[in-house]
Amino acid sequence: MKKQPIVAESSRPAKAARPPGPLEGASFQTGAAHAHQLPPAGVPEIAFAGRSNAGKSSAINALARQTRLAYASRTPGRTQQINFFGLRNGAVVTDLPGYGYAAVPKALKEGWQEFLWTYITTRSTLVGLVLVVDARHGLKPLDGELLAGYLSSGRPLLILATKADKLNQAERRAAVVDIERQLREAFPGQAQLARVVAFSATSRQGVDDADATIASWLAP
Ligand code: GDP
Repeated sequence: MKKQPIVAESSRPAKAARPPGPLEGASFQTGAAHAHQLPPAGVPEIAFAGRSNAGKSSAINALARQTRLAYASRTPGRTQQINFFGLRNGAVVTDLPGYGYAAVPKALKEGWQEFLWTYITTRSTLVGLVLVVDARHGLKPLDGELLAGYLSSGRPLLILATKADKLNQAERRAAVVDIERQLREAFPGQAQLARVVAFSATSRQGVDDADATIASWLAP
């Protein structure tokens, strides 16, 4: 008996390939611990900020699809510099020093917080800020201080409410709504500059959403 022809695999509609995320292929360029060590402002930069332990390094790694790009060292002294990562399209991502780390001596802490503040408020090529907050804790006073310096410039903000895998769906929704309310109350004229996304480096929830927002900031 004649066999039925086997349908060729190639005759099926091809699944659309996902475009690479903007941080995919990122590579470390340099670190700066003082204002005079900052590379000259040139290409567009996107900064990642957050309290120590919020999950910033894990978020950068998740978006870059790499496991150790932003190495999360708990050692004060290694985390106090701004790290620069080059992107495929020539833009740059900066990983800002985590703040609010209790074990750091006050003078040192104030020194690098001032550096961070100067960068956030004066860096001319900064086109967007990604603020990483623990979804279970919302915005803390130091986050608010940073945002006050940043949002007055009129530039866009993406808040990743991370560790969302530790919450159920209703709690995740409530966490996002609560952060949006905090923003409206603290920055009534600027809250429209912000997007809040439930995120998890573990489950990868929110990765596509974050990719799309960051890509829109870098679009020509
Ligand atoms: P950083 O200090 O802000 O860079 O924080 P890290 O990325 O080093 O994360 C701090 C801790 O939170 C680590 O133990 C991470 O494994 C954990 N963590 C970070 N992101 C997530 C997440 O999305 N889900 C869960 N469950 N844990 C996370």
